[in-house]
Amino acid sequence: MTKKVKKIAVITSGGDSPGMNAAIRSVVRACAYYRAECVGVYRGYQGMIESDFVTLTARSVNNIINKGGTILRSARSKDFRTKEGRKKAYENLKEQNVDGLIVIGGDGSFTGGVVFNKEYGFPIIGIPGTIDNDIFGTSHTLGYDTALNTAVEAIDKIRDTASSHNRLFFVEVMGRDAGFIALNAGVGAGAEEILIPEEDLGLERMLESLQKSRRSGKSSSIVVVAEGDRSGKNVYELAQYVEDNMPEYEVRVSVLGHMQRGGSPSCFDRVLASRLGVKAVELMLDGTTNVMVGLKDNKVAATNLEKAIKGQSSINSELLRVSDIMTT
Ligand code: ATP
Repeated sequence: MTKKVKKIAVITSGGDSPGMNAAIRSVVRACAYYRAECVGVYRGYQGMIESDFVTLTARSVNNIINKGGTILRSARSKDFRTKEGRKKAYENLKEQNVDGLIVIGGDGSFTGGVVFNKEYGFPIIGIPGTIDNDIFGTSHTLGYDTALNTAVEAIDKIRDTASSHNRLFFVEVMGRDAGFIALNAGVGAGAEEILIPEEDLGLERMLESLQKSRRSGKSSSIVVVAEGDRSGKNVYELAQYVEDNMPEYEVRVSVLGHMQRGGSPSCFDRVLASRLGVKAVELMLDGTTNVMVGLKDNKVAATNLEKAIKGQSSINSELLRVSDIMTT
C-alpha cells in the first residue's frame, strides 16, 4: 500500500509552452480544494537539486491563467541525469515532506520522472506541456493550440507582403521531429505546400506543384516548412533550390522561431490546462502514479508514462489529403 499523498510538488521542465501557468494554477487550486499542501519548484529538476522551493496557496496563482511562459521558470538540468543529482533531489523533497511530484513538460521531462520513480518509488504524474504536440496518449499538448494560432497569424501577415510583390515565401515553423504545427498551420493559412518530418514529398514534386499553381494564375505562394523536414535541405537551401529552378519567382525566407513559444495562451489551452491540472491532483491523491494525464476523444484520460514516452503520435493522414486537394 502506497503512503497517502499529503503534499505535492509541481515543476515545469524542458521547453516552456503557453498554458504552463494555467496548469500550475490548476494544480495549486485543486490541491487547495482537496486540502493538500502544494509547493512549486523553480527551474524544474535543477531546482529540486538546489532546493529552490516555494509554498503555493490558492492566492499565489492569482492572475496567471492568461500569462505565457512559466512563473516557476524552466530548465534543462544536466545534474538530474546523474545518480548523485537525483539523490540530492530526493533528499530535498523528503526534507520538505513532499510525497508526490507533478511534472509539466515534454517527453524528456517524463523520462526523468520515470527514472526518478524507478530509483526512489517517488509518485510522479505528468502533464504534457510542449508546443510540438508530439506526445502519445493525448490529442493535444499544452501550448500547441496557441503556437498554431501564432503561426497562422504570422503566415497571414507574410501572405499580405507575398501577394503585393509576387513573391514565394518559405516559412519555417517549429517541429524538429513532428509536423503537427506545420501541417495544421499550413492548412489553416492556406499554404501551397507543406513540408514535414513525417513525409518526404520529394523536391521534384514541390517544384511541379509550384509550377502548376503559377500556371493556374497564382502570383504568390507560401510554402510552410517544419524545422525537421525530411528533404535533407534546410529552409534556406530549399529556397535557393526553388530560385535556381524557377527564376520567375522572387523567393524569400521567414523563420518564425521562438515567437511560437510565447504569448498569452489560447482559450483552448487554458481550459485544457485547467482540466489536466485537476485530474493530475485527483489521481495523485488517489494513489495513482507513473501516468500522464491527457485528452482522448475530448475526455481527460490517463496513459502510462512510459507508453506516453515511447509511443508514436501519428500525423493526421486525412489532413494531408485535404491539404493536397486545397492546392488545386
Ligand atoms: P521539450 O519537448 O520542449 O524539449 P522536454 O521535457 O522533452 O521538453 P528535455 O530537455 O528533453 O525537455 O528534458 C527536460 C529535462 O528532463 C532534462 O533537462 C533532464 O533534466 C531531464 N531528463 C531528460 N531525460 C532524462 C534521463 N534519461 N534521465 C534523467 N533525467 C532526464
